[in-house]
Amino acid sequence: MLIQTTPDLYQKVGLLGSQAQYDLCEAQGQPTPLPAPEASTSGPDVSDSVTTVIGQGGRPVPLLRILQTSACEKNCYYCPFRAGRRMRRNTLAPDELASAFDQMQRKGLVEGLFLSSGIIGTGRTMDRMLATVELVRQKYQWRGYIHLKLLPNAEEAQIERAALLADRLSVNLEAPNEARLARLAPKKDFDHGLIEPLQRAWAIVQRLRRQGRAVASAGAVTQFVVGPAGESDQELLAASQRLYRQMGLRRAYYSAFNPIDDTPLQEETPTPPLRQHRLYQADFMLRQYGFDVAELPFDGQGNLPNDRDPKLAWAVQHPESFPVEINRAPQAELLRVPGIGPRGATAIVQARRSSRLRSLEELQRLGVRSQQAAPYILFDGRAPNHQLRLFTM
Ligand code: SF4
Repeated sequence: MLIQTTPDLYQKVGLLGSQAQYDLCEAQGQPTPLPAPEASTSGPDVSDSVTTVIGQGGRPVPLLRILQTSACEKNCYYCPFRAGRRMRRNTLAPDELASAFDQMQRKGLVEGLFLSSGIIGTGRTMDRMLATVELVRQKYQWRGYIHLKLLPNAEEAQIERAALLADRLSVNLEAPNEARLARLAPKKDFDHGLIEPLQRAWAIVQRLRRQGRAVASAGAVTQFVVGPAGESDQELLAASQRLYRQMGLRRAYYSAFNPIDDTPLQEETPTPPLRQHRLYQADFMLRQYGFDVAELPFDGQGNLPNDRDPKLAWAVQHPESFPVEINRAPQAELLRVPGIGPRGATAIVQARRSSRLRSLEELQRLGVRSQQAAPYILFDGRAPNHQLRLFTM
């Protein structure tokens, strides 16, 4: 992949881009585990700075995902960029980064920017990130997608500038509450440093929208590091629900912990990817299926079952809610049936306006996983024939 820039800048874009892959926001629900720590002085190409996400209509969209700097004064125990860790640090000036993005998008290599950063003075680093995005918007006239990370303790004026410039904002909480965060990032202040910027961002976005400004159309998101703080799934999902309901958060990302050499957590056990997967499934239940966190099928320790999808586990625990009449049930009830997702529920409601649904084959054609739904539904009082399944992932 060739862009017209100096070899040094070319290398820095590759390095800071490959390092930014540690941030999993924008992973669209299918994030990969954290890669091995990258401390090499050569190797990454600008292609390593490109992340493909799923855009509207399921279209793959390549983003330049990059750090302004990989230098950091903080000491987050899980992070490869923590202060004092032996690694090569790199920094891009705003005009360097903006120019590199402009060249990459003109060549069709990327269709958006996701900018994050290590921290050397919150105010100073946030200002450099904002200056980068201002150059991209104003000097290079980019009208497409930008996701901008808000650094801990970002100031009100900086958040407002960010909301006016970016389509999506994010603040990585990393942990569900202050006590858990203290085990991961002792220099971060959960309430004042992280929750307050999210609250402010939400208030500012609402105010600007009331004034008729089109700001942060893709909303705000956050990320949690799953595992090393000893938190339960219930703590994580309760925190997400609170953020969805009270701060208009669009999305929470769950990142299974992988230990990194030369960090205080290097001897910790990696978090199984299955736990991350179950958290995404349960989070989907909160955002798309109308469940409350109090309804989720946690065990005595507040964790989700490993052996089955949490929506199926909920159905098994609640026989009083089934069977559901496919031709009469409200959409909210259809959504609680295993195998029926939001698209399937909408398709059923539309299809039954013109004719009665009578078979699993018809449901299958509407996008329902019909064998999974079969034990939980009726067609006008009749239970469908289906193959028995012991469990479904
Ligand atoms: S603030 Fe913490 S998580 Fe962010 S780059 Fe610095 S050490 Fe890593």
